[in-house]
Amino acid sequence: MGKNKIYKKIRDYSYFIWLILLISVATITTNFYDSNKKNQTNFLKKSLSNTYLIKSIKKITSELKPRYIELDYVVKQGDTYENIINNIKISKKEKKLFLETISKKKKLKVLRLNQKISFKIDRKIKTKIIEFKIEIDNKNEIYFVRNKVESSFTSKTIEKNLQKVIAYKEAIITNSLYNSAINLGIKPQVIIDFARLYGFQVDFQRDIWKNDSFQIIYEEFRNNEGLLVDVGEIIYANLNLQNKDLKLYKFEYKKNKIDYFDENGKSFKKTLMKTPINGARLSSSFGKRKHPILGFTKMHTGTDFAAPKGTPVMASGDGKIIKARWCGGGGNCVKIKHNSIYETVYAHLSKFGRGIKKGKRVKQGQIIGYVGSTGLSTGPHLHYEVIENGRKINSQKLKLPSGRTLKGKERKEFEVNKIKIDVLKSKLISKFN
Ligand SMILES: [Zn+2]
Repeated sequence: MGKNKIYKKIRDYSYFIWLILLISVATITTNFYDSNKKNQTNFLKKSLSNTYLIKSIKKITSELKPRYIELDYVVKQGDTYENIINNIKISKKEKKLFLETISKKKKLKVLRLNQKISFKIDRKIKTKIIEFKIEIDNKNEIYFVRNKVESSFTSKTIEKNLQKVIAYKEAIITNSLYNSAINLGIKPQVIIDFARLYGFQVDFQRDIWKNDSFQIIYEEFRNNEGLLVDVGEIIYANLNLQNKDLKLYKFEYKKNKIDYFDENGKSFKKTLMKTPINGARLSSSFGKRKHPILGFTKMHTGTDFAAPKGTPVMASGDGKIIKARWCGGGGNCVKIKHNSIYETVYAHLSKFGRGIKKGKRVKQGQIIGYVGSTGLSTGPHLHYEVIENGRKINSQKLKLPSGRTLKGKERKEFEVNKIKIDVLKSKLISKFN
């Protein structure tokens, strides 16, 4: 055998050796991931079966919360600064500081209808307001920033004169989608929209793995000083899950009718959502389980999502409300009839959404209520049920027909729109890198 031939053999084998190495690494990683997940599940199961551990459930959910939250408020009839600040979970001292700061500004004496107020809150150690903005008229707002040492705010009036900027962001998901996005400076509103769009196809608790990635193009509104004041709509997004792209394009298919479509012009919307709530964690799945309060084994006919009290719950599809009232163990509950086949139920709500009552029609994604712990419940969570032809089924295993597919003229226009967005994307990427 010539020297060259031997080298060639080694080269052939080296490919093989690498393959084996790769497989073993993958196996070790998967095992580690599985055992880690099992530990977490066991821990959760243990805590859930103990009625006295409501506290620990609260602790778990609080650990899942992001450090910073942003709250945007639009002033309604009869509002006062007191009731606005009382709706925020902060200490009495913080509330007092806010009211005192406001009272020093003459321009803020009177609250106007539809006036915008936004808060940025830091929940590390002691929850406190770190900045807030109050609109004074259509052009100006007062911006308050907390001073590092003392308990006070510095304020300045800024002109809004907003300019639309197209933003591009991309990232590899290392921890959670939410954290990766926040770290990039993406506003929570955009993340919520993003999650809502993908909520039809992606189970955010299970389908997102470490090293999956996302890209997003959306509108930002900046003032003269370059300060980010508001965000607009998502124009394009891609969620790459285990090397599979899930692209979506914004498209105005009729005047003032906007929807999101995949590469093939198929609407992203499905008849029902898998997860009718944002930022929640699946805490108990469909199937047999020991009831956390009653103690005996019972069929769990829905899916539970743990989320902080007050988290909005959405209608998982268009439909008509056939129940919105107290229903015993389920506490405050809502039932929606979507069509002749599907109905959905949402239980343990703290309160109902505005105008939600029997007989009312709702749109997919509309807020129908807020997470609570009413009825037989150990802590704030949403109990979600999907009923198919009168039978309760596992919402997380549901294979749902998708919405419309663009055809004819609409499809042609969509293709042009898609190319435009792709060109915009390449431009933004070249600037980004
Ligand atoms: Zn449940």
